[in-house]
Amino acid sequence: MSQNKKALFIIFGGTGDLAYRKLYPALYKLYKKNYLNENFAVIGTARREWSDSYYQEVVYDSIQDIKESDQEAKEFASHFRYQSHNVNDTENYISLLKLADQLDEKYDIEGNRIFYLSVSPSLFGTVSSHLRAENLITENGFNRLIIEKPFGTDFVNSNALNNDILESFTEEQIYRIDHYLGKEMIQMLLALRFGNPLFKQIWNKHFISNIQVTLAEDMGVEERGAYYEQSGALRDMVQNHVLQIVSLLYMNEPSSNDSKAILKAKVDALKNLKAVNQENINQNFVRGQYTTSKDNPDILDYVSEHEVDPESNVETFIAGKIESTHENWEGVPIYIRTGKRMKAKNTQINIVFKKDTMNFFSTEEVKENILSIHIGPNEGLSLQLNNKQIGHAFELEPIDLIFNPSADAPDDYERLILSALMGDKTNFVHWDELAESWKYIDSIREAWSKAESPLYLYEVNTNGPTEANELLENNNDYWVWS
Ligand code: NAD
Repeated sequence: MSQNKKALFIIFGGTGDLAYRKLYPALYKLYKKNYLNENFAVIGTARREWSDSYYQEVVYDSIQDIKESDQEAKEFASHFRYQSHNVNDTENYISLLKLADQLDEKYDIEGNRIFYLSVSPSLFGTVSSHLRAENLITENGFNRLIIEKPFGTDFVNSNALNNDILESFTEEQIYRIDHYLGKEMIQMLLALRFGNPLFKQIWNKHFISNIQVTLAEDMGVEERGAYYEQSGALRDMVQNHVLQIVSLLYMNEPSSNDSKAILKAKVDALKNLKAVNQENINQNFVRGQYTTSKDNPDILDYVSEHEVDPESNVETFIAGKIESTHENWEGVPIYIRTGKRMKAKNTQINIVFKKDTMNFFSTEEVKENILSIHIGPNEGLSLQLNNKQIGHAFELEPIDLIFNPSADAPDDYERLILSALMGDKTNFVHWDELAESWKYIDSIREAWSKAESPLYLYEVNTNGPTEANELLENNNDYWVWS
């Protein structure tokens, strides 16, 4: 069976950073691998007045580092057209329809359309209602709407945004991107958990002591100060990426590998998260903000960044102890930690197994077994075991079994765009997950506000405020990655 897919992509925000850095290279990789071939076209739209040829040059430029040959890159770019577009102007959608129909015929696309909204979420409702009203949605092919985070600012706002979109597209047609779900090692989590009897048996409170999720960034807010002032680390990282990872870690085995069964298991895991309130918030969550340090005088405080309020109380770091009420997970916290301007860029999950009482060795001699999933920048798995020290003495020493996936694994956007082409929604965020995660995030914000939770300053190039360590020390745990 041919793997070649037929589709017309209409990208709103075609002149933007995301389109240039991620979407065009991802489409090119799919082209190189023959998932896209003759039967595809892309219309880029945005406010700027660009010509087709200029747009094609931009696309060509975006794939310079990965192109196989000049000719192939030019052939790929020849499938792209540009339309200058005001999202509120009906006439623009009428000409977009004309162009879409022409390209559909030219490339024999059979009515399959992917609308990619790489624009601010405030435009999602307007664009989707025009797409419906001006008949861009076809009768003969599939119609899918891809949207980018942030999906709102809280539950109420996100619900309203969603209802706007639902007037024109069904939940089935909506593909919400959380690019973490396109990462090799995140997808590997399911394979690891449910494809290995070894891990399946021990993935519970009897064998796991705690789990640690770290999403550390070494950069500051850069040019995104205005956005970050509205979001902070809680909305920017925890609502989406961190809670997605938490649901994959805590979920029960789905009844099948069907996307609906996986979704149900993930939503149940989110519903089972232990409630956060004014009484327990300060024991379980720590908020921090980066500040300059003597060792790094050139790096700005958060409050001195461009478009940041000098009095800002917004958190650039958050650490927390998340728990589940499910009986399988009693007493097994997932410690989470994410922040900007931390010591090093690193995304990692550590599953720390329980120590056991043994006859053969003393407990002090035996280190915990730790399964580490390295998500980025280097991908891989490692499993810490206790082995006999090589030599005459009979003593233990920890060793790591290491696996590194091959360097040519597909990247997140390539994988997710292909999934959207195939109609596979497993790695996209469903409204039910979004609703649950926003409710949880809202409860943290509300508790912070009622408890007047402190904001701890941490120096740049560190792993956050020391108070984050106490979350673990109080339970006799420690950060594995420190
Ligand atoms: P950007 O500012 O670089 O580009 C925005 C695009 O939207 C531009 O093409 C602009 O012309 C277009 N646009 C804005 N207002 C418009 C209007 N009224 N009518 C028509 N076009 C309009 O932004 P970006 O970084 O490309 O991000 C796009 C979306 O993706 C945002 O919602 C962002 O939050 C999200 N996102 C971006 C990244 C990233 O790495 N850049 C990562 C995750 C999510």
